Amino acid sequence: MAGPQDPDELRAQVSALDNRVFDLQALLKAGEALHNKTEVAALYELVIAMVRERAVTDQVALLVHDEETRTMGVAQQVGLSEEIVGMRFPADDGILWRLLLAGEPLSIVDTVGQPRFPELFNRYGLEALGGVIWIPMVISGRVVGVLSVGVPKRVLTDADRWFLGALARQAAGAISRSRLYTSIASARKDLNRSLHNLSMLFDVTRALGAVSDLTALLKLILNRAIGAVDAEKGSLMLLDESSDELVIRVVQGLPDPEVERRINEGEIQCRRFKRGEGVAGKVLESRTTHRVGDVGIDEDFKDRESSHVQSILCVPLEVDDEVIGVINITNRREGGVFAAEDESILEALANQAAVAIARTRLYEAAITDGLTGLYIRRFVMHRLQKEVRRSRRYDTPLSIVMCDIDHFKRVNDTYGHPAGDAVIIAVAKAIRTALRQDVDVAGRYGGEEFLLLLPQTGSEGARKVAERLRAAIEETRVDVGDGHILQVTMSFGVTQLGESDQASAESVLKRADDALYESKDNGRNRVSVGAVDEPH
Ligand code: GH3
Ligand code: MG
Ligand code: MG
Repeated sequence: MAGPQDPDELRAQVSALDNRVFDLQALLKAGEALHNKTEVAALYELVIAMVRERAVTDQVALLVHDEETRTMGVAQQVGLSEEIVGMRFPADDGILWRLLLAGEPLSIVDTVGQPRFPELFNRYGLEALGGVIWIPMVISGRVVGVLSVGVPKRVLTDADRWFLGALARQAAGAISRSRLYTSIASARKDLNRSLHNLSMLFDVTRALGAVSDLTALLKLILNRAIGAVDAEKGSLMLLDESSDELVIRVVQGLPDPEVERRINEGEIQCRRFKRGEGVAGKVLESRTTHRVGDVGIDEDFKDRESSHVQSILCVPLEVDDEVIGVINITNRREGGVFAAEDESILEALANQAAVAIARTRLYEAAITDGLTGLYIRRFVMHRLQKEVRRSRRYDTPLSIVMCDIDHFKRVNDTYGHPAGDAVIIAVAKAIRTALRQDVDVAGRYGGEEFLLLLPQTGSEGARKVAERLRAAIEETRVDVGDGHILQVTMSFGVTQLGESDQASAESVLKRADDALYESKDNGRNRVSVGAVDEPH
């Protein structure tokens, strides 16, 4: 029996120690290299290369354990067919799984080269892996994966097996860290996106609540919808209930800004879509979003040559299970087609938008006089209070005009009430034409009496506006049927809110009314300007 003092024995021990130190150094380097790879695929490649070198084999497959599906699947290979990538088997086979959990390299074939787990190997075709040794990658009692090592070109020593086992443990750590990193990164990305979308929706909801003019609201909705999915252009259509057709109300992103403006102002009528016609018509009919990748090959899309459309996202605007319109968004700014994600963000936005549209329509209906389309008396009084406050705060002039149709009773008495209504409608139209669209306010104050608010206008300016309107009404011919063409005149009372005028809205109104009666007293069909109170 050789003692420790035997020189051969000592030499052998030193040599073994040498090799061990060498291996440890190699593992240390391997550990560093693995640590620096955060890309899972690059990590797999490196592990495979290191195993292949040490095990002196041409064939290595790296299998990864998917804890969600509880399967073990081939993630990467070398020296085998690319087809085996993705091949998988259940990760709960009793004996084999216990052996893997033990974390030591195990021979997967018996002494004559037959699989030790023939049933599993046959059922899942695992012989295709060409493995004779499986090295489990285990960390903290969890199997991260397995390295299937092909036939080595020399007999593997205990030191080789130890090395491979240690390498596999390092690989397990690196792989689980990398997968964790990837899943955290993707979770963070998802979270960031949700956060972005939520804050966008929050913003939109708040912005939508602040707009009470329908056209402005529709423009805002379309603008935000286009922005939300980073698109080039779009249109918003509302359902015209009387014809059951979709009518384009606003557009954005047209190549010609003048055409765009005229469409949005209602000066140009665009084509309409019947139920079931075109992508928008399909959306109206089916009440579901349509996402079309390449419009060039989609037969639902109309006018494909003229509109330079590649991809389209069309969502319904629904209120109480009724489609009231659709939002069409076309062409991603960055190219490519719209994704499912774009669809869901646009649907969320459309939900908010539809409610806002319905609310705004109700509001507009509530403040609009049905016969003339002018504001109702209560709303125009509300605006008067507001304009008086604004005028005082910013020290800008404000004029108001009271007007009343002359001898209107005669119209009713002679031609009937419907003829009287037709005259009122014609006068209201003349009023709308004479005023500045976004600045002035016109309301139906009484039956055939109107109140006009002219902000930033002095009494002289207001007198001119009233005079122009007086002349226009005098010129207007109203066809009331039965061959009767009527002409009416109107009397006006103008007054201005004085510069240091502390008058209340009520007293300003009274002044305008007094001026109106002055016109009536002085023969009608004329404009009178009420005196501004002297500054106190
Ligand atoms: P004046 O020149 O003094 O104003 O004479 P007028 O006949 O116009 O007198 P007044 O303004 O008092 O008459 C209002 C009439 O307008 C009374 C009412 O029959 C009629 N009227 C009020 N509202 C409507 C309406 O909605 N439709 C119709 N057809 N007539 C209305
Ligand atoms: Mg009258
Ligand atoms: Mg009257």
